Amino acid sequence: MRDDTHHLDKAVELLRSGATMLGQACPACGTPLFKIGEQVMCAKCNRPVVILKATEDESKVFRGQTLATTEHTLLVKIDEAQSAIEKEQDPTKIAQLTQSLSNLLSALERLKKVDR
Ligand SMILES: [Zn+2]
Repeated sequence: MRDDTHHLDKAVELLRSGATMLGQACPACGTPLFKIGEQVMCAKCNRPVVILKATEDESKVFRGQTLATTEHTLLVKIDEAQSAIEKEQDPTKIAQLTQSLSNLLSALERLKKVDR
């Protein structure tokens, strides 16, 4: 009985010492992991845990997908703005459209510089 709850005491102790609870679970026992400084600890196993590299890869893939989707949206909007300018006759509206096209192009430019 004592052994079953021991890790909870340890968890409380970790939180008191300024650790934060992570959304990730220990790969060995499945209890939530704690982060203290740069170290990740499992309260139940009472040992440091190295976060699996697969998790990093997954988040990188997700990041890449998000950036690709954003890039696609920007390209669609650039195309729309370009067509709108082509059809527009009012100089004021052309100026507004040109400004938004310019904003879209610089957003795209910044996006391309983001490390994926
Ligand atoms: Zn564990």
